Amino acid sequence: MLIKIDKLKRRPRQIVIDKQAMDSPALQETIAKGIVTFNKAIIGTLEVTRAGQVIEVAGHLATTITSPCSRCLLPVVGQLEVPVALCYSDCDSIEEIPFAEEVEIQKEEISLIPFSGAEIDLQPDIDQEIIMALPQQPLCQETCLGLCPVCGHNLNQGSCDCEAPIFHAGLATLKKFKAKH
Ligand SMILES: [Zn+2]
Ligand SMILES: [Zn+2]
Repeated sequence: MLIKIDKLKRRPRQIVIDKQAMDSPALQETIAKGIVTFNKAIIGTLEVTRAGQVIEVAGHLATTITSPCSRCLLPVVGQLEVPVALCYSDCDSIEEIPFAEEVEIQKEEISLIPFSGAEIDLQPDIDQEIIMALPQQPLCQETCLGLCPVCGHNLNQGSCDCEAPIFHAGLATLKKFKAKH
């Protein structure tokens, strides 16, 4: 996923992305942590535009993922949509960006990623966008009851015989209660 700067002409260039998550170390790490499994290739199209010393990469990637429900840990399958908006600036000439352009970039809240040399490697930044797009707290259903904190029973499949969990002040009361008997 290399962009050759000198090949970028005035017209935007399309890059077709079709990559396996396992090919990328950053995504492999996420998979190894059990946060997510990628069920399909990550596909999409990005448009690369050059405006002076600023290279803009914008587009959209998508795939299907499975991640554990944040309450009951059952696998949840979902579509992952990854909006991509990256802005690179030749770090030797950042100060040459016209004032008006700079203001516009700030307004869009896109930070400039410095690069130097003749190529930009998109892979690490694309991987970062994918990781940021992952659901923070996936749920199998909005009303998921989660697991019993005592026995680990999945409460969506009915209740268990454990007592309600006791927290903080409640715990002190229970200790006193037990001492009386
Ligand atoms: Zn759940
Ligand atoms: Zn239980």
